[in-house]
Amino acid sequence: VDVDELLEHPVLTLRRHGVQSNPACVPAPNLFGTNRLNSSGLDLYCKRTVQQLHQAVGSGTFKDLEPLAYSTHVQVQSALGVAFRSRSTGGDWFEKGPEHWAAVLLQAAELLESHHLQLINLLVHEARKTIPNAHMEVREAVDFCRYYAAQVSTLPALQPESTPRLAVCISPWNFPLAIFVGQVVGALASGHVVVAKPAEQTPHIACYAAKLLHKAGVPVEVLQLVYGDWKVGSWLCSHPAIDTVLFTGSNAAAKHIQASLLNRDCLQSPALLIAETGGQNAMVVDSSALLEQVVGDALESAFGSAGQRCSALRVLCAQEDIADSLIALLKAAMQELQVGDPEFISTDLGPLIDRDAWQAVNTHIENMNANGFPVFRAERVDPCVAGHFVAPALIELQHMNELQQEVFGPVLHVLRFKADHLPALLHELNATGYALTFGIHSRIQSTIDLVCNTTKAGNVYVNRNMVGAVVGSQPFGGHGKSGTGPKAGGPHYLPTLMRLPQLRNMQ
Ligand code: GLU
Repeated sequence: VDVDELLEHPVLTLRRHGVQSNPACVPAPNLFGTNRLNSSGLDLYCKRTVQQLHQAVGSGTFKDLEPLAYSTHVQVQSALGVAFRSRSTGGDWFEKGPEHWAAVLLQAAELLESHHLQLINLLVHEARKTIPNAHMEVREAVDFCRYYAAQVSTLPALQPESTPRLAVCISPWNFPLAIFVGQVVGALASGHVVVAKPAEQTPHIACYAAKLLHKAGVPVEVLQLVYGDWKVGSWLCSHPAIDTVLFTGSNAAAKHIQASLLNRDCLQSPALLIAETGGQNAMVVDSSALLEQVVGDALESAFGSAGQRCSALRVLCAQEDIADSLIALLKAAMQELQVGDPEFISTDLGPLIDRDAWQAVNTHIENMNANGFPVFRAERVDPCVAGHFVAPALIELQHMNELQQEVFGPVLHVLRFKADHLPALLHELNATGYALTFGIHSRIQSTIDLVCNTTKAGNVYVNRNMVGAVVGSQPFGGHGKSGTGPKAGGPHYLPTLMRLPQLRNMQ
Protein backbone atom coordinates (compact mmCIF):
# COMPACT_ATOMS: atom_id res chain seq x y z
CA VAL A 1 0.00 0.00 0.00
CA ASP A 2 1.29 3.46 -0.83
CA VAL A 3 0.97 5.16 2.50
CA ASP A 4 2.12 8.53 1.20
CA GLU A 5 -0.82 8.50 -1.11
CA LEU A 6 -3.14 7.43 1.69
CA LEU A 7 -1.92 10.28 3.86
CA GLU A 8 -2.99 12.77 1.26
CA HIS A 9 -6.29 11.09 0.45
CA PRO A 10 -9.04 13.69 0.40
CA VAL A 11 -11.81 12.93 2.83
CA LEU A 12 -14.27 15.12 4.60
CA THR A 13 -12.63 17.63 6.88
CA LEU A 14 -14.09 18.37 10.25
CA ARG A 15 -13.54 21.31 12.49
CA ARG A 16 -10.23 21.37 14.32
CA HIS A 17 -11.75 20.03 17.54
CA GLY A 18 -13.57 17.18 15.81
CA VAL A 19 -11.46 14.76 17.82
CA GLN A 20 -11.91 15.45 21.46
CA SER A 21 -9.13 14.62 23.89
CA ASN A 22 -8.97 13.92 27.54
CA PRO A 23 -8.92 17.24 29.42
CA ALA A 24 -6.47 15.79 31.93
CA CYS A 25 -3.87 15.54 29.17
CA VAL A 26 -4.51 18.59 27.11
CA PRO A 27 -3.92 22.07 28.35
CA ALA A 28 -5.53 23.60 25.25
CA PRO A 29 -8.98 25.23 25.36
CA ASN A 30 -11.83 24.16 23.04
CA LEU A 31 -12.69 21.00 24.91
CA PHE A 32 -16.29 20.22 25.33
CA GLY A 33 -18.64 17.33 25.92
CA THR A 34 -17.77 14.34 28.05
CA ASN A 35 -15.99 11.11 27.44
CA ARG A 36 -19.07 8.99 28.18
CA LEU A 37 -21.58 8.01 25.56
CA ASN A 38 -25.20 8.01 26.58
CA SER A 39 -27.31 4.87 26.54
CA SER A 40 -28.29 5.26 22.91
CA GLY A 41 -24.61 5.05 22.06
CA LEU A 42 -24.10 8.61 20.90
CA ASP A 43 -24.40 11.95 22.64
CA LEU A 44 -25.62 14.98 20.72
CA TYR A 45 -22.20 16.26 19.86
CA CYS A 46 -21.08 12.86 18.83
CA LYS A 47 -24.20 12.27 16.75
CA ARG A 48 -23.52 15.31 14.60
CA THR A 49 -19.92 14.38 14.14
CA VAL A 50 -20.60 10.73 13.50
CA GLN A 51 -23.02 11.49 10.70
CA GLN A 52 -20.14 13.17 8.94
CA LEU A 53 -17.86 10.31 9.87
CA HIS A 54 -20.36 7.88 8.41
CA GLN A 55 -20.15 9.66 5.07
CA ALA A 56 -16.36 9.51 5.18
CA VAL A 57 -16.32 5.85 6.19
CA GLY A 58 -18.90 4.99 3.55
CA SER A 59 -16.61 6.50 0.93
CA GLY A 60 -14.88 3.12 0.94
CA THR A 61 -11.38 4.57 0.97
CA PHE A 62 -9.95 1.63 2.89
CA LYS A 63 -12.26 -1.15 1.80
CA ASP A 64 -10.73 -4.43 0.67
CA LEU A 65 -7.21 -3.73 1.86
CA GLU A 66 -4.63 -6.17 0.53
CA PRO A 67 -2.90 -8.18 3.28
CA LEU A 68 0.66 -7.05 3.97
CA ALA A 69 3.39 -9.63 3.45
CA TYR A 70 4.98 -11.03 6.59
CA SER A 71 8.56 -9.97 7.22
CA THR A 72 11.15 -12.65 6.64
CA HIS A 73 13.73 -13.70 9.22
CA VAL A 74 16.36 -11.77 7.26
CA GLN A 75 14.21 -8.61 7.25
CA VAL A 76 13.60 -8.87 10.99
CA GLN A 77 17.31 -9.31 11.73
CA SER A 78 18.10 -6.40 9.44
CA ALA A 79 15.54 -4.15 11.18
CA LEU A 80 17.07 -5.07 14.54
CA GLY A 81 20.54 -4.35 13.15
CA VAL A 82 19.47 -0.93 11.89
CA ALA A 83 17.83 -0.20 15.24
CA PHE A 84 20.91 -1.31 17.16
CA ARG A 85 23.23 0.85 15.07
CA SER A 86 20.88 3.84 15.21
CA ARG A 87 21.59 4.03 18.92
CA SER A 88 24.85 5.66 17.87
CA THR A 89 23.89 6.85 14.38
CA GLY A 90 20.31 8.01 15.02
CA GLY A 91 21.09 11.47 13.74
CA ASP A 92 20.59 14.14 16.33
CA TRP A 93 17.50 12.42 17.81
CA PHE A 94 19.37 11.18 20.87
CA GLU A 95 21.52 14.30 21.22
CA LYS A 96 18.49 16.58 21.17
CA GLY A 97 16.94 14.53 23.96
CA PRO A 98 13.65 14.60 25.89
CA GLU A 99 12.59 18.17 25.12
CA HIS A 100 12.80 17.49 21.41
CA TRP A 101 11.06 14.10 21.76
CA ALA A 102 8.19 15.77 23.62
CA ALA A 103 7.82 18.35 20.84
CA VAL A 104 7.72 15.58 18.24
CA LEU A 105 5.08 13.71 20.24
CA LEU A 106 2.94 16.84 20.37
CA GLN A 107 3.32 17.20 16.63
CA ALA A 108 2.30 13.55 16.24
CA ALA A 109 -0.83 14.28 18.29
CA GLU A 110 -1.68 17.11 15.90
CA LEU A 111 -1.19 14.86 12.89
CA LEU A 112 -3.29 12.06 14.38
CA GLU A 113 -6.05 14.60 14.99
CA SER A 114 -5.87 16.09 11.55
CA HIS A 115 -5.93 12.61 9.96
CA HIS A 116 -8.65 11.27 12.21
CA LEU A 117 -11.09 10.60 9.39
CA GLN A 118 -8.58 8.43 7.56
CA LEU A 119 -7.76 6.65 10.83
CA ILE A 120 -11.42 6.06 11.65
CA ASN A 121 -11.96 4.83 8.12
CA LEU A 122 -9.09 2.35 8.55
CA LEU A 123 -10.32 1.24 11.98
CA VAL A 124 -13.78 0.53 10.59
CA HIS A 125 -12.58 -1.31 7.51
CA GLU A 126 -9.54 -3.16 8.77
CA ALA A 127 -10.42 -3.82 12.45
CA ARG A 128 -14.21 -3.75 11.83
CA LYS A 129 -14.74 -1.33 14.71
CA THR A 130 -17.98 0.59 15.01
CA ILE A 131 -17.70 4.29 14.16
CA PRO A 132 -18.07 5.50 17.79
CA ASN A 133 -15.47 2.96 18.98
CA ALA A 134 -13.10 4.05 16.24
CA HIS A 135 -13.65 7.69 17.12
CA MET A 136 -12.82 7.03 20.78
CA GLU A 137 -9.73 5.10 19.80
CA VAL A 138 -8.28 7.98 17.82
CA ARG A 139 -8.85 10.20 20.84
CA GLU A 140 -7.02 7.72 23.06
CA ALA A 141 -4.04 7.61 20.70
CA VAL A 142 -3.88 11.42 20.74
CA ASP A 143 -4.08 11.39 24.53
CA PHE A 144 -1.14 8.97 24.82
CA CYS A 145 1.03 11.32 22.75
CA ARG A 146 0.10 14.40 24.76
CA TYR A 147 0.24 12.67 28.14
CA TYR A 148 3.71 11.16 27.66
CA ALA A 149 4.96 14.39 26.05
CA ALA A 150 3.78 16.35 29.09
CA GLN A 151 5.30 13.83 31.50
CA VAL A 152 8.70 13.49 29.89
CA SER A 153 9.76 17.01 30.74
CA THR A 154 8.96 16.48 34.44
CA LEU A 155 11.16 13.40 34.83
CA PRO A 156 14.81 13.35 35.86
CA ALA A 157 17.31 13.21 32.99
CA LEU A 158 18.16 9.78 31.65
CA GLN A 159 21.36 8.19 32.90
CA PRO A 160 23.88 8.51 30.06
CA GLU A 161 25.25 4.99 30.49
CA SER A 162 21.82 3.39 30.19
CA THR A 163 20.55 5.00 26.99
CA PRO A 164 19.53 4.60 24.29
CA ARG A 165 17.87 1.21 24.73
CA LEU A 166 16.23 -1.03 22.17
CA ALA A 167 12.52 -1.77 22.57
CA VAL A 168 10.25 -4.25 20.82
CA CYS A 169 6.56 -3.24 20.80
CA ILE A 170 4.00 -5.98 20.10
CA SER A 171 0.48 -4.60 19.87
CA PRO A 172 -2.96 -6.23 19.53
CA TRP A 173 -5.69 -6.06 16.87
CA ASN A 174 -8.42 -4.97 19.30
CA PHE A 175 -6.87 -1.53 19.86
CA PRO A 176 -4.68 -1.44 16.77
CA LEU A 177 -4.18 2.32 16.90
CA ALA A 178 -4.34 3.41 20.56
CA ILE A 179 -2.25 0.60 22.04
CA PHE A 180 0.20 0.65 19.13
CA VAL A 181 0.71 4.40 19.54
CA GLY A 182 0.75 4.19 23.36
CA GLN A 183 3.50 1.59 23.37
CA VAL A 184 5.60 3.26 20.70
CA VAL A 185 5.45 6.80 22.07
CA GLY A 186 6.02 5.49 25.62
CA ALA A 187 9.17 3.73 24.42
CA LEU A 188 10.37 6.73 22.40
CA ALA A 189 9.73 9.20 25.24
CA SER A 190 11.80 7.05 27.58
CA GLY A 191 14.83 7.04 25.27
CA HIS A 192 14.34 3.84 23.27
CA VAL A 193 14.82 3.03 19.65
CA VAL A 194 11.85 0.92 18.55
CA VAL A 195 11.06 -2.05 16.36
CA ALA A 196 7.29 -2.58 16.42
CA LYS A 197 5.25 -5.58 15.31
CA PRO A 198 1.54 -4.83 15.03
CA ALA A 199 -1.00 -7.68 15.08
CA GLU A 200 -1.13 -9.58 11.80
CA GLN A 201 -4.86 -8.78 11.47
CA THR A 202 -4.34 -4.97 11.50
CA PRO A 203 -1.02 -4.01 9.89
CA HIS A 204 -2.31 -1.10 7.76
CA ILE A 205 -3.48 0.94 10.75
CA ALA A 206 -0.08 0.64 12.40
CA CYS A 207 1.67 1.38 9.13
CA TYR A 208 -0.39 4.54 8.71
CA ALA A 209 0.21 5.67 12.30
CA ALA A 210 3.95 5.02 11.99
CA LYS A 211 4.01 7.15 8.87
CA LEU A 212 2.42 9.97 10.84
CA LEU A 213 5.01 9.56 13.59
CA HIS A 214 7.77 9.75 10.99
CA LYS A 215 6.17 12.83 9.49
CA ALA A 216 6.09 14.36 12.98
CA GLY A 217 9.87 13.96 13.21
CA VAL A 218 10.73 10.48 14.49
CA PRO A 219 13.65 9.26 12.31
CA VAL A 220 12.80 6.15 10.26
CA GLU A 221 15.66 4.17 11.76
CA VAL A 222 14.46 5.03 15.30
CA LEU A 223 10.98 3.61 14.60
CA GLN A 224 10.72 0.62 12.28
CA LEU A 225 7.87 -1.79 11.67
CA VAL A 226 7.97 -5.49 10.91
CA TYR A 227 4.88 -7.55 10.07
CA GLY A 228 3.72 -11.03 10.87
CA ASP A 229 2.38 -13.39 13.48
CA TRP A 230 3.77 -14.89 16.70
CA LYS A 231 6.73 -16.36 14.80
CA VAL A 232 7.99 -12.88 13.88
CA GLY A 233 7.35 -11.84 17.48
CA SER A 234 9.49 -14.67 18.77
CA TRP A 235 12.35 -13.79 16.40
CA LEU A 236 12.26 -10.31 17.88
CA CYS A 237 12.08 -11.41 21.51
CA SER A 238 14.90 -13.90 21.28
CA HIS A 239 17.38 -11.34 19.96
CA PRO A 240 20.22 -10.60 22.40
CA ALA A 241 20.17 -6.82 21.76
CA ILE A 242 16.64 -6.27 23.10
CA ASP A 243 16.41 -4.31 26.37
CA THR A 244 12.66 -3.85 26.65
CA VAL A 245 9.49 -5.54 25.40
CA LEU A 246 6.10 -3.83 25.51
CA PHE A 247 3.38 -6.37 24.86
CA THR A 248 -0.42 -6.45 24.86
CA GLY A 249 -2.16 -9.73 24.06
CA SER A 250 -2.90 -13.09 25.60
CA ASN A 251 -1.49 -14.41 28.85
CA ALA A 252 -0.09 -17.45 27.00
CA ALA A 253 1.80 -15.24 24.54
CA ALA A 254 3.18 -13.13 27.40
CA LYS A 255 4.56 -16.27 29.06
CA HIS A 256 6.12 -17.30 25.78
CA ILE A 257 7.82 -13.90 25.47
CA GLN A 258 9.03 -14.09 29.06
CA ALA A 259 10.58 -17.49 28.35
CA SER A 260 12.25 -16.23 25.13
CA LEU A 261 13.76 -13.29 26.95
CA LEU A 262 15.11 -15.50 29.72
CA ASN A 263 16.56 -18.04 27.29
CA ARG A 264 18.55 -15.51 25.31
CA ASP A 265 22.20 -16.15 25.08
CA CYS A 266 23.44 -12.85 26.46
CA LEU A 267 25.18 -11.60 29.53
CA GLN A 268 23.62 -8.19 29.84
CA SER A 269 21.01 -7.44 32.48
CA PRO A 270 17.64 -9.16 31.83
CA ALA A 271 15.21 -7.40 29.53
CA LEU A 272 12.25 -5.54 30.99
CA LEU A 273 8.85 -6.94 29.95
CA ILE A 274 5.73 -4.81 30.37
CA ALA A 275 2.75 -7.00 29.52
CA GLU A 276 -0.95 -6.22 29.47
CA THR A 277 -2.91 -9.44 29.08
CA GLY A 278 -6.40 -10.83 29.62
CA GLY A 279 -9.07 -10.71 32.30
CA GLN A 280 -11.91 -12.75 33.78
CA ASN A 281 -13.64 -9.54 34.78
CA ALA A 282 -16.62 -9.49 37.13
CA MET A 283 -19.24 -6.97 38.15
CA VAL A 284 -21.02 -7.41 41.49
CA VAL A 285 -24.59 -6.14 41.74
CA ASP A 286 -26.24 -6.14 45.16
CA SER A 287 -29.92 -5.69 45.99
CA SER A 288 -29.54 -1.93 46.60
CA ALA A 289 -28.34 -1.23 43.03
CA LEU A 290 -30.38 0.75 40.48
CA LEU A 291 -31.17 -2.01 38.03
CA GLU A 292 -31.93 0.21 35.03
CA GLN A 293 -28.50 1.77 35.40
CA VAL A 294 -26.89 -1.64 35.85
CA VAL A 295 -28.43 -2.88 32.59
CA GLY A 296 -26.96 -0.03 30.53
CA ASP A 297 -23.55 -0.34 32.16
CA ALA A 298 -23.47 -4.14 31.93
CA LEU A 299 -24.48 -4.10 28.26
CA GLU A 300 -21.85 -1.55 27.37
CA SER A 301 -19.19 -3.43 29.36
CA ALA A 302 -20.01 -6.91 28.04
CA PHE A 303 -21.11 -6.26 24.46
CA GLY A 304 -19.43 -2.98 23.46
CA SER A 305 -16.68 -3.66 20.89
CA ALA A 306 -18.45 -7.06 20.51
CA GLY A 307 -16.82 -8.04 23.82
CA GLN A 308 -13.37 -7.84 22.25
CA ARG A 309 -11.72 -5.82 25.02
CA CYS A 310 -9.57 -7.34 27.71
CA SER A 311 -11.38 -5.02 30.14
CA ALA A 312 -14.83 -6.36 29.11
CA LEU A 313 -17.31 -7.70 31.64
CA ARG A 314 -17.39 -11.52 31.57
CA VAL A 315 -19.21 -12.49 34.79
CA LEU A 316 -22.10 -10.51 36.23
CA CYS A 317 -22.60 -11.55 39.87
CA ALA A 318 -26.17 -10.74 40.89
CA GLN A 319 -27.42 -10.97 44.47
CA GLU A 320 -30.14 -13.60 44.34
CA ASP A 321 -32.93 -11.27 45.56
CA ILE A 322 -32.68 -9.18 42.38
CA ALA A 323 -31.21 -11.72 39.96
CA ASP A 324 -34.47 -12.69 38.21
CA SER A 325 -35.49 -9.05 37.64
CA LEU A 326 -32.02 -8.12 36.43
CA ILE A 327 -31.77 -11.07 34.04
CA ALA A 328 -35.22 -10.24 32.59
CA LEU A 329 -34.18 -6.61 32.01
CA LEU A 330 -30.87 -7.67 30.49
CA LYS A 331 -32.51 -10.10 28.06
CA ALA A 332 -35.01 -7.48 26.92
CA ALA A 333 -32.25 -4.91 26.41
CA MET A 334 -30.05 -7.42 24.57
CA GLN A 335 -32.83 -7.88 22.02
CA GLU A 336 -32.45 -4.22 21.12
CA LEU A 337 -28.78 -4.47 20.25
CA GLN A 338 -28.12 -4.24 16.54
CA VAL A 339 -25.43 -6.60 15.29
CA GLY A 340 -24.28 -5.72 11.81
CA ASP A 341 -22.06 -3.77 9.46
CA PRO A 342 -19.92 -1.32 11.46
CA GLU A 343 -20.19 1.21 8.65
CA PHE A 344 -23.67 2.06 9.88
CA ILE A 345 -24.29 4.41 12.76
CA SER A 346 -27.09 2.23 14.09
CA THR A 347 -24.75 -0.72 14.61
CA ASP A 348 -23.99 -1.61 18.23
CA LEU A 349 -21.82 -4.67 17.61
CA GLY A 350 -19.67 -5.33 14.57
CA PRO A 351 -18.24 -8.74 13.68
CA LEU A 352 -15.47 -10.58 15.51
CA ILE A 353 -12.01 -10.03 14.11
CA ASP A 354 -11.61 -13.33 12.24
CA ARG A 355 -12.79 -16.88 11.79
CA ASP A 356 -10.67 -18.30 14.62
CA ALA A 357 -12.15 -15.81 17.08
CA TRP A 358 -15.66 -16.56 15.82
CA GLN A 359 -15.06 -20.29 16.11
CA ALA A 360 -13.72 -20.07 19.67
CA VAL A 361 -16.70 -18.04 20.92
CA ASN A 362 -19.28 -20.21 19.17
CA THR A 363 -17.65 -23.39 20.47
CA HIS A 364 -17.86 -22.04 24.02
CA ILE A 365 -21.55 -21.15 23.65
CA GLU A 366 -22.35 -24.54 22.09
CA ASN A 367 -20.45 -26.44 24.78
CA MET A 368 -22.20 -24.58 27.57
CA ASN A 369 -25.55 -25.25 25.91
CA ALA A 370 -24.75 -28.93 25.46
CA ASN A 371 -23.77 -29.17 29.11
CA GLY A 372 -27.14 -27.90 30.26
CA PHE A 373 -26.33 -24.30 31.17
CA PRO A 374 -29.22 -21.93 30.36
CA VAL A 375 -28.15 -19.96 27.26
CA PHE A 376 -30.04 -16.94 25.89
CA ARG A 377 -29.22 -15.44 22.47
CA ALA A 378 -30.25 -12.03 21.18
CA GLU A 379 -31.55 -12.19 17.65
CA ARG A 380 -30.96 -8.96 15.81
CA VAL A 381 -28.13 -9.95 13.51
CA ASP A 382 -28.22 -8.18 10.16
CA PRO A 383 -28.39 -11.10 7.71
CA CYS A 384 -27.36 -8.96 4.71
CA VAL A 385 -23.67 -8.62 5.41
CA ALA A 386 -20.90 -11.15 5.40
CA GLY A 387 -18.65 -11.30 8.46
CA HIS A 388 -17.92 -13.21 11.62
CA PHE A 389 -20.94 -11.99 13.55
CA VAL A 390 -21.94 -13.42 16.91
CA ALA A 391 -25.31 -12.57 18.45
CA PRO A 392 -24.87 -11.49 22.10
CA ALA A 393 -25.30 -14.39 24.53
CA LEU A 394 -26.18 -14.63 28.21
CA ILE A 395 -25.22 -17.82 30.03
CA GLU A 396 -26.21 -18.62 33.61
CA LEU A 397 -23.57 -20.28 35.79
CA GLN A 398 -23.91 -22.08 39.12
CA HIS A 399 -20.33 -21.59 40.22
CA MET A 400 -17.32 -19.52 39.17
CA ASN A 401 -15.17 -22.58 38.42
CA GLU A 402 -17.53 -23.55 35.56
CA LEU A 403 -15.84 -20.84 33.52
CA GLN A 404 -12.36 -22.05 32.78
CA GLN A 405 -11.06 -19.67 30.15
CA GLU A 406 -11.43 -16.06 29.01
CA VAL A 407 -14.10 -15.90 26.27
CA PHE A 408 -13.13 -13.00 24.01
CA GLY A 409 -16.48 -12.05 22.52
CA PRO A 410 -20.04 -10.95 23.28
CA VAL A 411 -20.85 -13.51 25.97
CA LEU A 412 -22.07 -12.44 29.40
CA HIS A 413 -22.09 -15.05 32.17
CA VAL A 414 -24.40 -14.49 35.12
CA LEU A 415 -23.77 -15.94 38.57
CA ARG A 416 -26.20 -15.59 41.49
CA PHE A 417 -24.90 -15.10 45.03
CA LYS A 418 -26.41 -14.93 48.51
CA ALA A 419 -25.65 -11.72 50.41
CA ASP A 420 -23.64 -13.49 53.12
CA HIS A 421 -21.60 -15.30 50.45
CA LEU A 422 -20.15 -12.07 49.02
CA PRO A 423 -16.76 -12.22 50.83
CA ALA A 424 -16.29 -15.84 49.70
CA LEU A 425 -17.30 -14.90 46.14
CA LEU A 426 -14.71 -12.12 46.07
CA HIS A 427 -12.04 -14.61 47.11
CA GLU A 428 -13.16 -17.04 44.39
CA LEU A 429 -12.85 -14.24 41.82
CA ASN A 430 -9.37 -13.40 43.08
CA ALA A 431 -8.49 -17.09 42.92
CA THR A 432 -8.90 -17.10 39.12
CA GLY A 433 -5.51 -15.37 39.11
CA TYR A 434 -6.79 -12.68 36.73
CA ALA A 435 -6.95 -9.15 38.12
CA LEU A 436 -7.75 -6.60 35.44
CA THR A 437 -11.09 -4.81 35.80
CA PHE A 438 -13.89 -5.09 38.35
CA GLY A 439 -17.28 -3.41 38.70
CA ILE A 440 -19.48 -2.88 41.72
CA HIS A 441 -23.04 -1.58 41.64
CA SER A 442 -24.34 -0.83 45.13
CA ARG A 443 -25.71 2.03 47.20
CA ILE A 444 -24.28 0.61 50.42
CA GLN A 445 -20.92 2.16 51.22
CA SER A 446 -19.71 -0.78 53.33
CA THR A 447 -20.31 -3.14 50.38
CA ILE A 448 -18.44 -0.85 48.02
CA ASP A 449 -15.58 -0.66 50.53
CA LEU A 450 -15.51 -4.43 50.97
CA VAL A 451 -15.27 -4.98 47.22
CA CYS A 452 -12.66 -2.28 46.67
CA ASN A 453 -10.53 -3.57 49.55
CA THR A 454 -10.77 -7.24 48.60
CA THR A 455 -10.45 -7.35 44.83
CA LYS A 456 -6.97 -7.46 43.36
CA ALA A 457 -8.15 -5.99 40.04
CA GLY A 458 -6.10 -3.15 38.61
CA ASN A 459 -9.10 -0.99 37.65
CA VAL A 460 -12.22 -0.97 39.84
CA TYR A 461 -15.31 0.89 38.62
CA VAL A 462 -18.05 1.92 41.08
CA ASN A 463 -21.65 2.38 39.88
CA ARG A 464 -20.68 2.79 36.24
CA ASN A 465 -19.54 0.76 33.24
CA MET A 466 -16.14 -0.92 33.45
CA VAL A 467 -14.52 -0.29 30.07
CA GLY A 468 -12.85 2.68 28.43
CA ALA A 469 -10.09 3.70 30.83
CA VAL A 470 -8.93 7.27 30.17
CA VAL A 471 -5.25 8.14 29.65
CA GLY A 472 -3.99 10.33 32.46
CA SER A 473 -7.00 10.13 34.76
CA GLN A 474 -7.65 6.36 34.70
CA PRO A 475 -4.39 4.53 33.97
CA PHE A 476 -5.07 0.99 32.74
CA GLY A 477 -3.49 -2.32 33.75
CA GLY A 478 -3.71 -5.38 35.95
CA HIS A 479 -1.80 -7.89 38.04
CA GLY A 480 -1.17 -11.63 38.13
CA LYS A 481 -2.38 -13.35 34.96
CA SER A 482 -3.60 -9.95 33.72
CA GLY A 483 -0.25 -8.23 33.39
CA THR A 484 2.92 -6.95 34.90
CA GLY A 485 2.12 -3.28 35.44
CA PRO A 486 2.97 -0.43 35.39
CA LYS A 487 -0.33 0.85 34.02
CA ALA A 488 -0.46 2.39 30.56
CA GLY A 489 -1.33 6.08 30.55
CA GLY A 490 -0.28 6.45 34.18
CA PRO A 491 2.54 8.21 36.03
CA HIS A 492 4.75 5.12 36.51
CA TYR A 493 4.92 3.95 32.90
CA LEU A 494 7.77 6.16 31.71
CA PRO A 495 9.79 5.98 34.97
CA THR A 496 9.69 2.16 34.78
CA LEU A 497 10.80 2.21 31.15
CA MET A 498 13.60 4.61 32.13
CA ARG A 499 14.61 2.33 35.05
CA LEU A 500 14.39 5.21 37.47
CA PRO A 501 15.17 3.33 40.68
CA GLN A 502 12.95 5.30 43.04
CA LEU A 503 9.87 4.88 40.85
CA ARG A 504 10.31 1.44 39.31
CA ASN A 505 7.73 -1.28 39.74
CA MET A 506 5.12 1.01 41.19
CA GLN A 507 1.63 0.44 39.86
N1 GLU B 1 -7.97 0.20 27.79
C1 GLU B 1 -9.13 -0.48 27.34
C2 GLU B 1 -10.32 -0.24 28.23
O1 GLU B 1 -10.18 0.39 29.25
C3 GLU B 1 -8.94 -1.96 27.12
C4 GLU B 1 -7.68 -2.33 26.44
C5 GLU B 1 -7.67 -3.73 25.88
O2 GLU B 1 -8.70 -4.36 25.67
O3 GLU B 1 -6.56 -4.22 25.60
O4 GLU B 1 -11.40 -0.69 27.93
